[in-house]
Order: sequence, then C-alpha cells, then structure tokens
Amino acid sequence: MSSKVYNFSAGPGILPTEVLQQAASACINFDDLSLSLLEISHRSKNFEAVMEEARELAAQLLGLSAGWKVLYLGGGASLQFAMVPYNLLTNDGFAAYVNTGVWATKAIKEAQVLGNVKVIASSEDNKFSYIPRGYEIPTDADYLHLTSNNTIFGTQMKSFPKSEVPIVVDMSSDIFSRPIDGNQFSLIYAGAQKNMGPAGATLVAVREDILGKTGRKMLAMLDYKVHIKGGSMYNTPPVFPVYVCLLTMRWLRDNGGLPWMAQRNKEKSECLYAEIDRNPMFVATVPKAEDRSDMNACFLLTKPELENEFNALWKDAGISGITGHRDVGGYRASMYNALPLDAVKTLVEVMKSFEQKFG
Ligand SMILES: *Cc1c(COP(=O)(O)O)cnc(C)c1O
Repeated sequence: MSSKVYNFSAGPGILPTEVLQQAASACINFDDLSLSLLEISHRSKNFEAVMEEARELAAQLLGLSAGWKVLYLGGGASLQFAMVPYNLLTNDGFAAYVNTGVWATKAIKEAQVLGNVKVIASSEDNKFSYIPRGYEIPTDADYLHLTSNNTIFGTQMKSFPKSEVPIVVDMSSDIFSRPIDGNQFSLIYAGAQKNMGPAGATLVAVREDILGKTGRKMLAMLDYKVHIKGGSMYNTPPVFPVYVCLLTMRWLRDNGGLPWMAQRNKEKSECLYAEIDRNPMFVATVPKAEDRSDMNACFLLTKPELENEFNALWKDAGISGITGHRDVGGYRASMYNALPLDAVKTLVEVMKSFEQKFG
C-alpha cells in the first residue's frame, strides 16, 4: 500500500491502515479458523462474538445507558430516512425537522410520504452555509430530526438543542469524531462508510421505549423491534462491514477513545481553516467559525480561473479526493478520524505554494 496518497475522500472515506490490514487478513483466515470471515455462518459463535462486541463498543463510545439497543442494518443511512418516520411518526401527529442540507432534505421528503412534517428551521436561504439557532421545538412533535454534520456543505452542530421531544440524529459523517453524551438523543444513526467502515452497514442506536407507538402495521424488515429481537441478526447482517466497524472502534478505544480523537480532529481542522482564512487565494464557504465542520472543510478559489493550476499542484503532492461536491463546487477536504495531521499539513503547504506562485 502506497503511503504517499493523502486521502481526503468525502465517502466512502479513509480508514486506519491497521484496520485495513486486519480486515484483509480476516478475509483469508478469520480467528485461525482457516476460513474467511466471508464464508462462515453469521450464526457461528465466532461471528456472534463480533456482532456482540460491535454492539457493545458502539454503546460504550456513545455513552449509552440501559434501555438503548444497538443494531447494524443494511440499506445505508438513506434507509433510515424512511425507517425513522415508519417507526416513530404517528397518524395524527407530526415530526419536526431541521433542514441543514441535502441529506436533511432527503430525510424530510421520506417522512412526508408517511405523515405530517414541520420544518421548524432551515439554512436553505443561504445555501446551507450556517447552522440555524434559536428555533422553537414544538412540544407535541412525535420527534425532532437533526443532522449533526452536513457532509456536503461543511457545517456541523457543535451543540444540540434540549427538548422533551425524542431527538433523532443523523451522525453519518461525524460519528465517533468527538465525545458526545448519546443519552440526550433517542435515536442515533450513521452510515458506516464515512467514519467507521465500508459501505453496507448502518449503525442504529435506539432507546427501546420510544418504539411501538404508531399503531402502524409493520413490515418486518423495516421494524426496529424485529431487528432488536433478532439481536441485529433477523436476517443475514452485513458481516464484513460490521467486522470492519468493530476493528475501527477497537482502534479508537485502544488509542485514547473519543477525547483523543476530538483533539486530533480539532488540530487538523484548525490547521486547515487557519490557512483558508489567511491565504487570499481561498475563501471558506461557511463564514462563521462556530458552524464549520471539523470533518468536511469546504472552500473556493478567489480566482476560479486558476483552477487548473491549483489542481495540478495538489495532485502532484499526492493529494486525492478534494474536489467539491457538485452542488457546491470548489473544494472539500474531508478530514475523517483516520486522516493523519500530516495530510492536512501537506495540503496547507500546497495552498501556500499556490499563493507564492500565482498570488
Ligand atoms: C452520506 C450521508 C448519508 C447517506 O448515506 P448512504 O449510506 O449513502 O445512504 C446520509 N446522511 C449523511 C449526513 C451523510 O453524510
């Protein structure tokens, strides 16, 4: 594996090298069984142990108290856009959503198919470049839906509103990036492929007491209770993604946990944003520092006509994956947990040399 590529991909994103190595070896010979992880029964005791530890470690990292259940489901975070209202939205009630970007908009659309939705705050008026604040949360909502990190536009909630209403949060792109008291929420979900593992598994943590209240006749595969009862193995779970998520969580735990991760992530994002703000060749798309994502930093060239020159410089330096999302343009540097500080320093050097050559 070449160590010279600095992988800033927005998703699927970078994973720790040692996790990839352990995962690769488990594909050949898992647990000294002389069998691949990919060719053993999910009901084998070896895989049951993987699933159990993966559920436990996630609960530990999120600080979840008793009453929470952790699942690994297929269908991506996008299936949760549907499963959340399907399991929580009542016929006569409504759900409250905060619209902070493309993903939140998709979540809202799915909920609207199943029932009533009130969008109680939105940053759409300014291209989703900020986090809305000071909105009222209706106390009679079935739930409130938030997106903790807006992967595409590069905003992140640094704190969360308080409410009696169950809070559902899409943490797909900043799960395990900082210590968070999971108990302030009632349901947390995250697609694995941004910050945990390969595409194919979605972490869902849910407080069991919020379930079973809609009166809806439930399809088994879309019913959290069915998956809980089956220990997240109602049907064949995504065995390989679950295993890699487990390896990543062990890596986090063994290196100092989420406080360590948060410090590392802060160091990286501060280093990059400082350069974006200092360097006259660049401008951040998210103006307020407190709204800027530590995971995805979005920026534009102040002289867009120099795009080819800048692209040549970063490609030459071994940087990969910083082209911006098609909805935003410009650049997006995704600095997920596994990205080393060294990668960010390399990008900053490139930005400085761009200024020296073309400024
Ligand atoms: C990537 C992403 C999704 C969609 O995830 P899929 O697993 O592709 O369905 C949803 N929400 C957020 C915040 C994301 O970053």
